[in-house]
Amino acid sequence: MKECPYELFIVDALNLKELQSKEVGYVKEKGSERIVAKIVLFDEYLKKRNNRTIFVELIKGICYIFTNAVFFKKIQERSKKELFLLYHELGHIYFKHLRNGDNYEKEREYRIDQIIKGKASDKELQADAFAADIIGISIAIEALKKLQTQRLERDYQQGVYKKTMSILAQREFAYRIAELQKKLNEKAKS
Ligand SMILES: [Zn+2]
Repeated sequence: MKECPYELFIVDALNLKELQSKEVGYVKEKGSERIVAKIVLFDEYLKKRNNRTIFVELIKGICYIFTNAVFFKKIQERSKKELFLLYHELGHIYFKHLRNGDNYEKEREYRIDQIIKGKASDKELQADAFAADIIGISIAIEALKKLQTQRLERDYQQGVYKKTMSILAQREFAYRIAELQKKLNEKAKS
């Protein structure tokens, strides 16, 4: 495992309802005062963005990690699976994957294109590897499996699990998990 180049600071507040659309923490570079990202609680925004639980966006040169109250609570509890997903977003920042006014649709199209070709996008795999190096590969796999199941359950409840988007999402998770599994196997051999 690697040492994380970042440090996480978050509020201890229990009543997260009052903190909607507000900053609830930040990430700073270790050994410096440089703020790497601000963490914002914003359930409504996440719902609009394909119901994700966490994602990062570059707005006017500042990285914002948006997340929802349910997920943030887990971060407060320092749950490793959720921390993996947070570090995944930090991986995107670390590898400078983000662009100002990030074109979400374009990125999504690229991801879909890659899945159709039978793989996950390089950016996703890099961000996974970054986070797995810090949190551990086994936890990374567990975290992605949990997210995959949650997505399937949600799509099932909404009656869209047979739709192309749902199937592609499941496949992307499978490719990402397979990549981490490969890493774990290689590590076991060495
Ligand atoms: Zn990602």
